[in-house]
Amino acid sequence: MLSFSESGCNGNAPPECRIQRSRRRSISLCISDDGAVLVKAPLFMSDVAISKFLAEKQGWLDKKLKEAAAARQEVEWLGSFSAEELAAIRKRAKEIIPERVAHYSKLSGISYGRISIRLQKSRWGSCSACGNLNFNCLLVLMPPEILDSVVVHELCHRRHMNHSKAFYAEVLRLFPDYRRCSAWLKEHGGVYLARVK
Ligand SMILES: [Zn+2]
Repeated sequence: MLSFSESGCNGNAPPECRIQRSRRRSISLCISDDGAVLVKAPLFMSDVAISKFLAEKQGWLDKKLKEAAAARQEVEWLGSFSAEELAAIRKRAKEIIPERVAHYSKLSGISYGRISIRLQKSRWGSCSACGNLNFNCLLVLMPPEILDSVVVHELCHRRHMNHSKAFYAEVLRLFPDYRRCSAWLKEHGGVYLARVK
C-alpha cells in the first residue's frame, strides 16, 4: 500500500491509488474525477520504482489532492445548474460572445465564419478548418478576461491551426495576460463543467 501524508486528503482516509500499466515510455500522475490518484506507468516498471516516483511527487500530489477536494466541495455547495439557469446563461452568452469575437477580430484583422454557442462538457472553444468558431456558453459566468482569452485563442487558430510557438506568439501579442487566464481556466473550469448534469 502506498502512503500519503495527512494534509493531502484533509485528514480523511488516504485516497485510492490506481496503477495503470501500458505500453508507454514514461510514468505520469493525475487525479481522477472521483478523487483517486491515477498512476500511468510503463509495462515493466517495478513497484519499487513507482513508489519512489510517488514519494518524489508527494508535495505536488498533496497540493493537487487539496485542490481537487476543494473543487468537489464547491460543486456540492453550489449544486447543478437548473434548466432556467442554463437558459439564462445561453441567452447571455449569445449576446456577449459574438460581441467579444467582433472586438478581437477588428483589433487583429482576423476574419471568421459563423459563431456557434453551445453547452459542452468537454471543451471551451474550437475553430473549424473553414473558420467557424464554437464557444462554451459557461464562459460568460467567469471573469470577463477568461472569456476574452478563449476568444483570442480560437481566433488565432485562423492563422495557425496548431499550438505551435508561432501560434502562442500571436495569442500573446493580442492578449498579453493569456498565460494567467489559461492557468485560471485549468484550475477553476472544472467546477463549472461539473455543475452541468
Ligand atoms: Zn487551440
